[in-house]
Amino acid sequence: MVAGGCLCGAVRFAVEAFQGGAFKCHCSKCRKAFGGAGSAAALVARDDFRWLAGEGTVRAYHCASGFTRCFCPDCGCIVPQHIVDHGLQWVPLGLLDADPGIRLKHHIHVDSKAAWEILDDQALQHAAGFDS
Ligand SMILES: [Zn+2]
Ligand SMILES: [Zn+2]
Repeated sequence: MVAGGCLCGAVRFAVEAFQGGAFKCHCSKCRKAFGGAGSAAALVARDDFRWLAGEGTVRAYHCASGFTRCFCPDCGCIVPQHIVDHGLQWVPLGLLDADPGIRLKHHIHVDSKAAWEILDDQALQHAAGFDS
């Protein structure tokens, strides 16, 4: 089990098991939302995820395109969210308190990456989503 939480600690969660690998998304929306090169996250089974604190305070921002990001209203930190289409929980890896044991496997939306970013050559690079 690995626990994690937002910057201020109001939102806390735990992940029982991580499967698959970590991925970084370089799409323009993740770059804006994270204020950086993109997002680094993993998808975990809903049964392996549970909230420990603050779930009821989490707010969501919805773009017109359907892109959603959930965040802590106190510190603005992006927090996990349920990906309804896949029945999975999206977990930003930077929130974790300890090593989840998985490593970076995929770069997605590489066609949208910032011009200044340099990618490693070990993780698979996908032009758009995982299937590209
Ligand atoms: Zn917070
Ligand atoms: Zn993205």
